[in-house]
Amino acid sequence: MRSPSLSHAFLVLVGAAVVVAGNPLVTSKSYQATVSGDNLMKHAEKLSQYSKINDANTRAFGTIGHNKTIEYIKSSLDKTGFYDTYLDTFQYLYSDGTAALSVANVTYEIAWLTYGPGGDVNAPLVLANNLGCTQNDFPTAIAGNIALISRGNCSFSDKVALSGAAGAVGAIIYNNENGPLAGGGTLGTDFNPLGPYVPTGIVSGSDGKALISAVEVSDKLIGNLHVVATNENRTTSNVIATSKSGDQNNIVMSGGHTDSVPAGPGINDNGSGSMSILELALQLSHFRIKNAVRFGFWTAEEFGLVGSDHYVAGLSEAERNKIALYLNFDMVASPNFGYFIYDGDGNAFNITGPPGSDHIEKTFENFFASAGVKSAPTEFNGRSDYGPFLDVGIPAGGLFTGAEGNKTAEEAAWWGGQANVAYDVCYHRACDTIDNLNLPAWVQNSKAIAHSIATYAVSLDGIPRQAQRTLIPRIALPHDRRRHQACGHEVLAS
Ligand SMILES: [Zn+2]
Ligand SMILES: [Zn+2]
Repeated sequence: MRSPSLSHAFLVLVGAAVVVAGNPLVTSKSYQATVSGDNLMKHAEKLSQYSKINDANTRAFGTIGHNKTIEYIKSSLDKTGFYDTYLDTFQYLYSDGTAALSVANVTYEIAWLTYGPGGDVNAPLVLANNLGCTQNDFPTAIAGNIALISRGNCSFSDKVALSGAAGAVGAIIYNNENGPLAGGGTLGTDFNPLGPYVPTGIVSGSDGKALISAVEVSDKLIGNLHVVATNENRTTSNVIATSKSGDQNNIVMSGGHTDSVPAGPGINDNGSGSMSILELALQLSHFRIKNAVRFGFWTAEEFGLVGSDHYVAGLSEAERNKIALYLNFDMVASPNFGYFIYDGDGNAFNITGPPGSDHIEKTFENFFASAGVKSAPTEFNGRSDYGPFLDVGIPAGGLFTGAEGNKTAEEAAWWGGQANVAYDVCYHRACDTIDNLNLPAWVQNSKAIAHSIATYAVSLDGIPRQAQRTLIPRIALPHDRRRHQACGHEVLAS
């Protein structure tokens, strides 16, 4: 260890070669001072450009818009010389599609189900009995026809596979409430041992009732179900960057997902969180740190936390133990924002993170309190990339500005914006463009992120290290349920 005076002399003699040794130790104040709205917007402009290549308007994993995002992150980090970086590359099944339905020349709104196969079928509609959860619920008359099935009791996947096993050429599920299925649905996987999938989609409960009445009048009611779908393995990557400096046995890790949903460019979800940490990673290269700092830029979060899951599953116990804590940032610039902090101590929502998660929550609370900004807790339910870290006992925390939920009147009084309107009306939609960002909120949250990284890069006091760690999953939601969820929003599989 070089003394300060020696390092200063060395700096004078050798110049730029020892810049790292001569850099100041990071502090919350100095690191926060590097946050610039202009720099954040420059990153957002890049993502916006990538999303527009070939008029795709998406950065879903495996698309050119997302691959460009990955390249941009890695090359920007490599230019600093401050990090060891690598691409954590793997394959995953991509799925995107649309469905259209007309019956006796009347058009019905029908929602495609993720992993559903493509096809164009013209055949009479035949009702399945009960809820279509056993083979007995599918009469022999369904063979060669389109099965009409109620939602409920078993997965969409089982209903569609049993239709296929009964010889149906298509399957229409109707919602068990009057309206359409909220938030999108999925078959969960591309394979079900009960039978082959057939082209499928889900209609509203009221349209379902109308179709049932029509089928009861005529047993030759012809439906046309037209599904266009892409289901294919695609190669994608996480970007992992670890500071060359700092104690490599006490790593402070932050992360955010870099992919969007297929339906939109994802500039708030999650261009905001991923570009906050990219900008802070670039600025960190001007500082000295005591603990190593690692950044994880996750892919395929929108398909069920796939990238972060892949990364954590690949860590040995020794590697996991080196990660002192994990900070997650998914949606930090919502247009009708709230300043939400993950409820790591469980006092608001009764889902408690591993020991140390309470300390992380407090660190963020202290930041907002000292900035004179109101903050509020949000449920620590594992529905973003911190979930896999919780599962292996790594303390975690993070920030969130809200998704499809509505802002309350009380929250509008705290933070401004519109009550009874979604925090992000463009959540998972084509309009999550660069115009969907709230820049003051983004800057404020980036400063909060800077505060948390600077705090823990200097001291892990208050964070229990591995002796206290437990590998028992600490959260209430089992992993196979979480697979269908992302960004605080449930994508239904049944
Ligand atoms: Zn999302
Ligand atoms: Zn997200």
